[in-house]
Amino acid sequence: MIIVSDLKKSYGDTDVIKNISTTINKGEIITIIGPSGTGKSTFLRCLNLLEHPTSGTIEFEGKNLMDKKTNINEIRKKMGLVFQNFNLFAHMSILDNLCVGQTKLLGISRTEAEKTSFELLKMVGLVEKANAYPDELSGGQKQRVAIARCLSMKPDIMLFDEPTSALDPTMVGEVTSVIKRLARSGMTMVIVTHEMDFAKNVSTKIIYMDEGGIYEEGPPEVIFENPKREKTRAFIKRIKTFLYEVDSEDFDFIELINELGNFCTANALSKSNIYKAQLVTEELSTVLIPNNELRSVRFNFPEDQSSFELNVAYGGENRDVIQKPQSDKLSKSIVKGIASETSHYYSDNENQLIVKW
Ligand code: ADP
Repeated sequence: MIIVSDLKKSYGDTDVIKNISTTINKGEIITIIGPSGTGKSTFLRCLNLLEHPTSGTIEFEGKNLMDKKTNINEIRKKMGLVFQNFNLFAHMSILDNLCVGQTKLLGISRTEAEKTSFELLKMVGLVEKANAYPDELSGGQKQRVAIARCLSMKPDIMLFDEPTSALDPTMVGEVTSVIKRLARSGMTMVIVTHEMDFAKNVSTKIIYMDEGGIYEEGPPEVIFENPKREKTRAFIKRIKTFLYEVDSEDFDFIELINELGNFCTANALSKSNIYKAQLVTEELSTVLIPNNELRSVRFNFPEDQSSFELNVAYGGENRDVIQKPQSDKLSKSIVKGIASETSHYYSDNENQLIVKW
């Protein structure tokens, strides 16, 4: 779909992208990760000529974008770009935001555009907001609308420029869920993100960028589990993640607690933090979340162990088991006693409870 050759981009004397050559195939989900300031966003913006490369070539569906004869507006319609800050039209309703591109740029009738818009709003879970205005929506909802609006142009590829970085942490999940759903539909995507778990789960290929170039690329299991090069290794290791996915109703709870303990010990956590991680997991998964609803337990912390985050996913109806009055009082107070902060959100029929300390 896209062939990039010897791409360079400089601002004055600063070479932001030194040399990138890569190929993006139809159906691939490519995630670009790496330290801030290494040119990830610039690279993404070069792909649809929002930034004009200093030299090199970009071929999209057989057309050379650097050729002056190529109609770049036609190309842009086929490349949806989702920004950090949503960029919705504030004076238009959500429905109008979704219809305007279709009627003005694609020449589709208003009736047809509305039909498509409602299908897309359904896909991102926001049909009931069709007549609302952007100001009335949360950040996560705005970003879901922005994604739907991009899709309304029927793009061949979607580019995401840090789609969750302007969001409150509790809203990240609702946006990544929508992107994951799109991934399952076979959409070709390039995503710049700092959400490592998401990158690991959604991608067919990871590009690790450093100092203005592709430093290492490969399938997620290689980049995350066994990166070949030193800087990639250092970057990946900054965030330690433990993930336990429940695969059957009678999963082995002791195994979960044991594996979590082994992970913590291997990463040299203090006894007190190991105890906290295990206790919170135990109280949540056995007491507060009965009925075989537990789906996964994820435990993250940065290498300097400055903060800890335990994320428990469970099914059932929308409910926060920490706030819900009928939940076991003792377990609730144990969890609250450990946590400096807890938050809950519900997205894609899944509850996410995040406990931080
Ligand atoms: P990343 O997405 O990896 O954080 P960016 O692509 O946003 O990196 O930026 C890479 C570098 O290019 C940064 O040092 C940034 O300051 C610089 N840069 C980006 N856009 C411009 C611009 N329009 N003018 C000058 N420098 C820029």
